[in-house]
Amino acid sequence: MMEILEELPAKAKEKHAENKKYFAKLRKKPPKQLDYLMQELHEAEFQRTDCLECANCCKTTGPLFTNADIVRIAKHLRLKPQQFISTYLHLDEDNDYVLQQVPCSFLDADNYCSIYDVRPKACREFPHTNRKKFQQITALTLKNVAICPAAFNIVEEMKRRVLLK
Ligand code: SF4
Ligand code: SF4
Repeated sequence: MMEILEELPAKAKEKHAENKKYFAKLRKKPPKQLDYLMQELHEAEFQRTDCLECANCCKTTGPLFTNADIVRIAKHLRLKPQQFISTYLHLDEDNDYVLQQVPCSFLDADNYCSIYDVRPKACREFPHTNRKKFQQITALTLKNVAICPAAFNIVEEMKRRVLLK
């Protein structure tokens, strides 16, 4: 896995122009069965992928924390929401709460998440490749293929399976 992660940014860069062009076509005319196909591709890829061997999302980027995430996680940690914010989060340039540092403070040495049951929604949904109306998150996916080897593979398989004119 280490080797795959080391090579991923360069591989994503190499595919960037091709992916951008493909996603532009996808947004213009998404295939009717896209939701079903993405579900299938996502599930097949994550049967082959062990996130515990990777954790690259938790190590290199972080989730956005919604208000509901903050309240739920603070309660779990027996902190007041404000204490949780001042200890772990800061506001980014878009005014969203994000981690003060990466790797995420909740990631342990074995790549387990210490707040797994109450983790942010964005962590539960990452890399969003089974999301409905996938054509709406292509800008995010262009970035995620450089972070997540599973997302990279899903997009490559998608280009093989869905030929767009
Ligand atoms: S979601 Fe992607 S980046 Fe995160 S641990 Fe799984 S394979 Fe790695
Ligand atoms: S909260 Fe958990 S799943 Fe989310 S980035 Fe941190 S360690 Fe990873």
